[in-house]
Amino acid sequence: MSSTGLADVVPEGARRVGIFGGTFDPPHNGHLTVAASARHALDLDVVLLVVAGEPWQKVGDRAISSAADRLAMVQQLCAHTDGVEACDLEVRRPGPSYTADSLGELAAPGRTLFLVLGRDAAGGLPTWSRVDEVRSLCVPVLVDRPGVEAPPLPVGWSWQRVEIPRLDVSSTELRGRVASGQPLDGLVPPGVITCIDERRLYGGRAPGAGARAARRGPR
Ligand code: ATP
Ligand code: MG
Repeated sequence: MSSTGLADVVPEGARRVGIFGGTFDPPHNGHLTVAASARHALDLDVVLLVVAGEPWQKVGDRAISSAADRLAMVQQLCAHTDGVEACDLEVRRPGPSYTADSLGELAAPGRTLFLVLGRDAAGGLPTWSRVDEVRSLCVPVLVDRPGVEAPPLPVGWSWQRVEIPRLDVSSTELRGRVASGQPLDGLVPPGVITCIDERRLYGGRAPGAGARAARRGPR
């Protein structure tokens, strides 16, 4: 873990680098389990949680939290896990966030990039921009995801498969839980709950925050 919780951009000397991208709205323990399991199973120096600055495939479907809010939450998610770091590469880059661009920026002589994808994201690869470039720049890593229906895997990809503890949790479910006042405890780390609370995300007080605020008194 870096002192800021943010990888700048890849720690010096890292040769086996995991890239785990997402909207992370909010990040949750499913994401953390994937990142930590992939790091362990593949002996990666670091796994970067790359926050999509402009997740162009999701824009228009719903209100997406600001990149700054999502980055702050991902920093909290990673705060206590060695070798799992938030990465703001795509937040700093203007325009739609394309993985091909990120892989191009992160590529370096002697370094192997492992692109970690949940089963649903892997099934969506044909819709990505410059997908052949993506394939040529990384070793694709597939993790299973419970509870999702996904398109078939694209042909022509040689997957490394990583077994992970299956956590049936999604950001969509968590946004709904916050909006309806249900607790997030056990689904995201406390630091993420605090972030959601302080930034007033997802149209509700973060569950538990009301009780904490009452103990603290008015602010
Ligand atoms: P949303 O419901 O908003 O789509 P999400 O939970 O799917 O959010 P994303 O940010 O869309 O999270 O996903 C980022 C990556 O994390 C994708 O590769 C996705 O497949 C993977 N992922 C998310 N949740 C899990 C989980 N519970 N188990 C395994 N992989 C997951
Ligand atoms: Mg998703």
